[in-house]
Amino acid sequence: MVFTYTPLEDIPAVFSDLQKTFRTGKTKPIAYRKEQLAQVAWMLRDHQQEWADALKADLGRPSLEADFLEINPAISEAKDAYDNVEKWSKTEKARWDMTWSVMKPQIRKEPKGVVLIITPFNFPVHLTITHVSSAIAAGNCVVIKPSELCPAVSELYAELVPKYLDSETVRVVNGDVPVVSKLLEFPWDHIVYVGSGRVAKIVAAAAAKHLTPLTTELGGKSPVFIDPNTDFELAAKRVLWGKLANAGQVCVAPDYVLIPRDAQDRFVEEVKKVYASFYPEGDPSKSDSFSRIITEAHTARIKKLIDESKGTVVFGGEANVQEKYVAPTLLKDVTLDDSTMQEEIFGPVLPIVPVEDVNEAINIVNDREHALCLYVFSNDPKYKAKVFDNTQSGGAIANETIIHVGATGLPFGGIGPSGCKTASVLKQSTIKLIILYTAGYLSGKYGFDILTHHRCTLDNPRWVDTVLMKGRYPPYTEKSTSF
Ligand code: NAD
Repeated sequence: MVFTYTPLEDIPAVFSDLQKTFRTGKTKPIAYRKEQLAQVAWMLRDHQQEWADALKADLGRPSLEADFLEINPAISEAKDAYDNVEKWSKTEKARWDMTWSVMKPQIRKEPKGVVLIITPFNFPVHLTITHVSSAIAAGNCVVIKPSELCPAVSELYAELVPKYLDSETVRVVNGDVPVVSKLLEFPWDHIVYVGSGRVAKIVAAAAAKHLTPLTTELGGKSPVFIDPNTDFELAAKRVLWGKLANAGQVCVAPDYVLIPRDAQDRFVEEVKKVYASFYPEGDPSKSDSFSRIITEAHTARIKKLIDESKGTVVFGGEANVQEKYVAPTLLKDVTLDDSTMQEEIFGPVLPIVPVEDVNEAINIVNDREHALCLYVFSNDPKYKAKVFDNTQSGGAIANETIIHVGATGLPFGGIGPSGCKTASVLKQSTIKLIILYTAGYLSGKYGFDILTHHRCTLDNPRWVDTVLMKGRYPPYTEKSTSF
């Protein structure tokens, strides 16, 4: 396989070609959108084995995880958009109002234009296809920029997208930082950026130059609260699975555990048992059920976190940088100043931070940046409500980890540093540019709405001037205020 980057000099034409097509209205008919969405699904289904092989080559992804966490959910997203695009794109009437309703106020659902979608390495199929499906359903032209850290998957996009989708409306651009930098020079009608907060700041600054709306889907340290009275066997199984899927390279992976100090060892014993049952041969490096880290550099970064940790290693701790292997690692008695508590781990390392009680755990979480998700294991409704009601995070999940990302109908996204949703002000030299960030809720109807312009319309009949608004024209008199 030869992985080819898109030449920088081709990029201006990619943008202008798509802009020209968009202006012809080609992407607007619902029948066209549905046909393209069906093609997205077929592109995955017809070549399911090739996608799985590419995921194996790039990420050492076990084939069950490829189907369960990537390809099937991606097909579902395309299918969900196919099934619902007609309903989602219907013009809506504004709510009834005595004065305004005579003017037929309506909200037209219009595509934004040409959308740039930049995605990360860890779920190169599911994440990319979810956003592409939303963009197509909303009637946009699309540029897909997959991660260069997944050469096999990115090359498959370059090969299959032109065969299955309309090249006048959907293009793949491959490459690393210079390619993204070139792409960011253009005035896209919306940018979807999924990846790290560090790069999101670069993308946001570039988007601000054109006042381009930007949606960010980022990461963070998603905490796990363990109620000492919960079912530890179940909690251990679901937390460890969520941590080890894709070797921890999941944006919503449980990052660390908060548990009352006197319950820590009991929980550790259950995690050890679950670990033994996941890898009965005793060596996950030989298992077909455990992925590799994406690059040697990321492997070295995670190894350093383990080596510098002051926590006690319960199991694991080994890493082989050349093999891009980090052993599943459980650390106990970890403190907040530990190396593993300073950044998103994004690897198969689970630190347990013992706390006094749930109140201390809540304070710890509230003192940190808002996470993409927060997990609670408890059978007590009051315990769950206490944690949910007194914290903030992108999602809040009880008695489960990571699978909510695929749940049909649920908005998925972050808050603040884990995914941007509010108006922000960026300082660019001496000029303050205000750009509208939208909620990182890119799935199903939520994704459709974000990549859709909700355009207001009115059609005011002549008689309104003689009855409802007769006093609005100058010269103003006392009676002018009567409308
Ligand atoms: P990354 O930010 O390094 O890369 C993402 C994309 O940005 C890639 O396509 C890459 O080509 C581009 N890029 C990288 N450096 C750039 C630069 N200097 N200038 C311009 N573009 C650049 O992220 P990653 O390492 O691929 O992915 C891991 C991160 O993504 C984690 O933080 C994870 O939590 C996050 N993530 C979030 C979600 C979500 O939906 N919230 C999903 C998956 C991953």
